[in-house]
Amino acid sequence: MKSQIELNKSLNYFTFCKEIGYGLPILTNSGTIIKEILRNFIRTEEFKRGYHHVETPVLGLKNLYETSQHATKYANDMFPSFASEGEEYVMRSVTCPNHYMMFKSELRSYTELPLRYTEMSTLVRRDMTGELTGIFRANSFTLNDAHIFCSRENVKEEYASIIDFIKYVVAVLGLSDSISYRLSLGDENFNNQKFIVKPELWREAEGYITDIMNQSGVEFFSARNKACHYGPKLDVLMKRYSGKPEIIITVQLDFILPELFDVYFANKKQEKERPVVIHRALPFSMERTIGFLMEHYQGDLPFWLTPEQVIIIPFSEDSLIISRAEAINALFLNNGIRSSVNHSTEKYNKKVKKAIQQKVGYIVLIGNDELTSDSITMRNRLGEKQSMNISIAIDTLKKQNFAIA
Ligand SMILES: [Zn+2]
Repeated sequence: MKSQIELNKSLNYFTFCKEIGYGLPILTNSGTIIKEILRNFIRTEEFKRGYHHVETPVLGLKNLYETSQHATKYANDMFPSFASEGEEYVMRSVTCPNHYMMFKSELRSYTELPLRYTEMSTLVRRDMTGELTGIFRANSFTLNDAHIFCSRENVKEEYASIIDFIKYVVAVLGLSDSISYRLSLGDENFNNQKFIVKPELWREAEGYITDIMNQSGVEFFSARNKACHYGPKLDVLMKRYSGKPEIIITVQLDFILPELFDVYFANKKQEKERPVVIHRALPFSMERTIGFLMEHYQGDLPFWLTPEQVIIIPFSEDSLIISRAEAINALFLNNGIRSSVNHSTEKYNKKVKKAIQQKVGYIVLIGNDELTSDSITMRNRLGEKQSMNISIAIDTLKKQNFAIA
């Protein structure tokens, strides 16, 4: 089994550039395509599940992160603040403060809850292991960060629906057999400086999340002192190539920040009531998810996630063969299949070898036979060749592409 760093040598999904900065990954065209596919998949599902997509700034006033206590409890993971026009700013490491402010910007009624904000947010976190871990612990990454404001009355139902969402996503990605669920709790004795000390709220949150997990039907284990600073959480761990698990999804239950930010809604009796907030990162980081997928499939991504689905290789530089290759490429592209013609001056055999190393979905070879025929020969990753009519080939690949719809 190879790591994402080793696999990336031939797949070339990401790179680093010392002039840009340490631990700051650059996604290539292929890496960006995978990220876009994942993003579209998740966002489409979120629409169906009643989420509000929002976009908030990548930097903000430090005061806000002092209210959330990220600036104190989480300071080592944040880049140092900086001053501008007499104000102190930080680059965001989370989106919670922004989403809290959005909730607080209007008077809220119980009829609006659960209110689900979600954002594909670019975050920056300081992690000196950065580049050494490829795209697993980058200093800049995109996290699909949601904050769901709900009442104590509906928090269990909402949390259960998120677990259902998680199961769906890992099943579609083909990862169900490689994950485990960890209930990450705080400090029983309230001595650990990592956590905000509010014993009553901790006990309440841990009571809720333990009930939720016991009723969820998923197998899980509990771990003390693994919570975040404001509440317990469910961590979905995914096995890496080495067998070592890392977080792929996290869902935090927060009874504390609603107090610190002083947010409330008007309940049925028109009284002020504190909401509970579920912080949900699904996935935790898009870049890390790409790394998990690379390692899990050892580069052989499912067709719908494969950046280069079809590569067309003309057998020679003959103009008739080139224009036939272009025409077939246009047919694939017009049918939503990611296809390209390899026009490089490399030898034919070398082009085929490179396409195999890059784990493209199919290689289509165009020679004299294809000039007068409606059939093409497709070579899959196993090296099996199949001749078929172009329109049948397109229909077959389209079905694989939309298998998740
Ligand atoms: Zn959050």
